[in-house]
Amino acid sequence: MDKRMQLFNFIEEKFDHMIELQNILTSIPAIGPENGGEGEFKKAQELLKWLREQGFLNIETFDAPDDRVPSAKRPNIVVTIPGKSEERVFWIMTHLDIVPPGEKSLWDTEPYTTVVKDGKIYGRGTEDNQQGMVASIFAALAFLKEGITPAPTVKLLFVSDEETGSNYGIKYILNNYSIFGKNDKFLVPDGGFPDGSMIEIAEKSILWLKFNTHGKQCHAARPELGINAFVAGSEIVTRFAKLYEKFGISNSLFTPPYSTFTPTRKEENVPNINTIPGEDVFYMDCRVLPSIKVDDVLKEIDRITEEIEKKQGVKVERKTVQKVESLPTPRDSPLVKALENAIKEVYQIEAKPIGVGGGTVGAYLRNEGFHTVVWSKIDDTAHMPNEYCVIENMIGDSKVMALMMLG
Ligand SMILES: [Zn+2]
Repeated sequence: MDKRMQLFNFIEEKFDHMIELQNILTSIPAIGPENGGEGEFKKAQELLKWLREQGFLNIETFDAPDDRVPSAKRPNIVVTIPGKSEERVFWIMTHLDIVPPGEKSLWDTEPYTTVVKDGKIYGRGTEDNQQGMVASIFAALAFLKEGITPAPTVKLLFVSDEETGSNYGIKYILNNYSIFGKNDKFLVPDGGFPDGSMIEIAEKSILWLKFNTHGKQCHAARPELGINAFVAGSEIVTRFAKLYEKFGISNSLFTPPYSTFTPTRKEENVPNINTIPGEDVFYMDCRVLPSIKVDDVLKEIDRITEEIEKKQGVKVERKTVQKVESLPTPRDSPLVKALENAIKEVYQIEAKPIGVGGGTVGAYLRNEGFHTVVWSKIDDTAHMPNEYCVIENMIGDSKVMALMMLG
């Protein structure tokens, strides 16, 4: 029999085992301490037990120490399936942690007990990120059980702490180990469109800034005695609109196709109407196309700010709250091509590589220079009440992954 058919048949026949694994994973909540949980340890233990029972032999753990959880560990797991080539390595990264269910009354079912209805599995975590996790496990299991050797060496990576910053997950691994080769390729099945047509290959850089304008407080009836920090801050805000012209490059990979520079939060200044504020604080959210250097944006922001400082006689403190620079994965990367072909074969659609607004976990890998695609076929019920996984999608995604491993 054709190897493809062999793998596809295995995955289709095992769909009830996939649902079973979803049941197990959903029944053990893995919530980070920031969200009031005990971490991923118990869920990881159960997963490790299941994987060993299935015959996965090459399993390594890279636990991050964390005293805030009872186990004092945030587990990270690597499962290796040797391929024909040792040099070519194909990773699939999924995350163990979930977000809390939120308002219980909004759920029609128990969040930690899976319910199968109308071709969907309901429960917290079933889509985010267990659909991708279970799909990747069964794609690998198909090779193991059918005695087929994948072309690249396949590595499944299960990480902690995706939902609360990745410091104990992928960032911990990147900072403390060198388990990734420079030509390794990554699939992160943790984002996508309901028709499976979106392949995320890039994201905008994120820049969050805080501006504290210092003027001189005084009575509102005697404005000539003070310096109005609110007025100066407001002038800066309006002048920042000029950033759209200065950094006006566009790239159709993204929606919107241009960089954005958006003043957002405003802190309260004086509590009463008859005082001129001597302090004023506002914030800004910038999403910058990868072809623009974030430092160039900062330079222009400082230039504008200095102009207003001189004009209004204020002092402005600028603090960087967050700065994540982004490196895209090339559109013509063999990884992107292979995924496009696999999606076409399984789902009969033309997928499109695109860029997103920023803040996904793929960025940590891309920024280290690794070719990384974020893809899955999902309804995007992540973080919502009544989160579900479409069983057909889990099976289809597993086939796409199997093709990537075969290629
Ligand atoms: Zn996720």
